[in-house]
Parts: sequence; structure tokens; C-alpha cells
Amino acid sequence: MPCQSSEQLNELVLKAKKFTKQGKVADYIPALKKANRDELSIAIYHPDGTCISAGDIQQKITLQSISKVLTLALALTDCGEAEVFKRVGYEPTGDPFNSIVKLETNKVSKPLNPMINAGALAVTHMIKGKSIEERFGRLLTFIRELTGNSGISYSKEVAVSEFETSHLNRSLCYFMKQHGVINEEVEGLMDLYTKQCAIEMDCLDLARIGLVFAMDGVEPKTEKRLLPAYVARICKTFMVTCGMYNASGEFAIRVGIPAKSGVSGGIMGAVPNRFGIGIFGAALDEKGNSIAGLKLLEMLSVEYSLNMF
Ligand code: GLU
Repeated sequence: MPCQSSEQLNELVLKAKKFTKQGKVADYIPALKKANRDELSIAIYHPDGTCISAGDIQQKITLQSISKVLTLALALTDCGEAEVFKRVGYEPTGDPFNSIVKLETNKVSKPLNPMINAGALAVTHMIKGKSIEERFGRLLTFIRELTGNSGISYSKEVAVSEFETSHLNRSLCYFMKQHGVINEEVEGLMDLYTKQCAIEMDCLDLARIGLVFAMDGVEPKTEKRLLPAYVARICKTFMVTCGMYNASGEFAIRVGIPAKSGVSGGIMGAVPNRFGIGIFGAALDEKGNSIAGLKLLEMLSVEYSLNMF
């Protein structure tokens, strides 16, 4: 059943919005502290090009960890499956996204999956290009294609704010450099990674990307293939197993769709063969997921029978 109307969606947003009060805005990246804790917005993009939305959908958010799905898609397209999984594994960790512990305790010192920071840094390392600028430019071009929006860019303020405070991410890079997972200069990789995390868009753009994944890599309106089907499949699988931090198991049971969240409070969802979802709600729960965004998805999943399991 398609989602009926923006009015219906609005009612669900009003119900879910109450939960923002129980969450906290991310503050370990100083620029993210400025976000408004009370906001909640959603856009749903259907294959026929129609969109329904609720809340302040013009509000732009930085992708943060949602970008990890997109860099994975680009690295897989650039290097192929075999090459990518030489440097990063397939398994969920159960640890926080920025944890270093498994890098040391695992026998083969490679990150367990591409959705944790260590894995995402290893994936960003594989994006091809002669310089950081060229690699970032390729990522932006790819994201502009996925959204159909040539105006997509990044927030310099958020990128600089993270670059200046990313000590833990730097330590993940140095650890992986020691073990041969990455072999480039750490500062350059951090520059690229913090810019990727600071790429900005609104909920509608996010929902359009979700739709491309939902449709196995094809933009349904133009029928243009933007991703190989196997790349869309791998990305969606990681979204299910590790997309919602170490709450991914509970999310799979309660909501049951491929989704990826970020510490800015964004969530991108891909309901297979049905629609793409973009959500923004800056107040986070203790695991780092948008607290009201999760409630909203739980309600949507029941209301529209989204659970694929
Ligand atoms: N830029 C953030 C970091 O690396 C992304 C984290 C997230 O959204 O989970 O810490």
C-alpha cells in the first residue's frame, strides 16, 4: 500500500515529535551542537516521482555516517567486490561506531564492516582519483546523480569543525596504516572523510537516494541505472545488519527495512521496490540514532506494513 497523504504523515510526525525531548543533540563535533533538538521532518519518495512530506523539509542536514553507504557504493563500483573486502569485513560489531577495540583484538587487523568509522575510513581510502580534490569531486558528482540535484555540496563549517577535533578517527587511521589496511597520508584521508561526512542535503534529496537503493540501483522515473544491482544489494544488506549502529538488530525487528542513520540525526531508508525515506530529527538516543526518527519509522512500519521479514 502506498503512503496515502502528507496529512497522514503529519499526524505521525506530531506523535513522534514528542520523543525529541528525551534525546540529545550530538556535541562531539562542535558545529553539530547548533542543531535544533525539537525538529522532526520526513520525506517519502515514490517510484512514480511523487513525494509526500511533513515537517520542515527544507532544513538541510549533513550526512555524517549516512555517507558511508554512498562511499561504499562508489568504492565497490571503482574497485570491485573482491578488492573492497580485502580491506574491510562483512560482520556487525556490537560496539559503538567509533570503537577501536576490535581492530586490535581481531586476528586479521582489518575493520569488521564498512559502517563503523574504521571501516568507512578504509572504504574512503579506496575511492579513486589523483588528488583529494578529485576524489571528493567524484563523490559529489555521484551523489548529485543519485539525488538528481546538481546543487548538492558540503558544509565547510561542519567539515572543519570535525577535522579539527577528529583525534579518535586519526588514531583509527594510524592503526590501520600500521597494519597495511590503508597506505596514504592520514591528514589527506581525514580531509576527504570529514568533507564526505559534511555533505549537505534536505530530506527530499535523502529520500531520493533511498529510492534508488530501494529500486536496486535504478532511478525509476528516468529508468537510468545509477548503480550496479549487486552494489545496491550489498549496501542494503549492510544497512540491515549494521546501519543503525549497535541497535541494528532491534531496528530490524521493530521496523524491518534497510536504513542508515548519522549523528546529525538523519536517517535514510529504502523500502524494497516501494519507496525511499529521508528523515531528520537532531535529538539522538544513547546509541546515536534520531530518537523521534526511530519512533516515526516504527509507526510507519506498522501503518504501511513495511517490515520485509
Ligand atoms: N563524522 C562522524 C564521525 O566520524 C560520523 C559518525 C556518525 O554519523 O556515526 O565521527
